[in-house]
Amino acid sequence: MWKTTKNHWSNQPNADEIKFKSGKAFRGKKLSEEHKNKIRISILKAGNEPPHLYGKDHPRWKGGITPINTQIRRTMKYKLWHSNVLKRDNFICQLCGVKGGKLQVDHIKSFSQYPELRFDLSNGRTLCVSCHYFITTDRIMEGKAMFWSRNSKMVGVR
Ligand SMILES: [Zn+2]
Repeated sequence: MWKTTKNHWSNQPNADEIKFKSGKAFRGKKLSEEHKNKIRISILKAGNEPPHLYGKDHPRWKGGITPINTQIRRTMKYKLWHSNVLKRDNFICQLCGVKGGKLQVDHIKSFSQYPELRFDLSNGRTLCVSCHYFITTDRIMEGKAMFWSRNSKMVGVR
């Protein structure tokens, strides 16, 4: 966090001076854990958030392009719902009955239109990739579509 050129200290006076001095002092040195803790404590005492980078402050921030749906699918709550549906269905595709393999969990009532049912176990069903593709796109999967996945194509489809 010390190497970034972003300025986290902008709410303090002489921000540039502090950045310059600390940059010079710490160049090439590793901070001990004790030293880091002292810094954390002093930052907290000053009433500031630790200089961790989130969202638009992060150097790799791309301008908020991650769709909210994708963000939700990354959460622990979503992963839990996902694995609970798979277990309930015994890892069997609910349409063609295939067991195991590449299984996906489908929202019976669409993820985007029924936000209140996103984590409802009864709104999930286990589908194999081919059935999921068929249900979602109304087409039979063939050729390159085998690489179709919930993450790459389904977002925005339903
Ligand atoms: Zn199937």
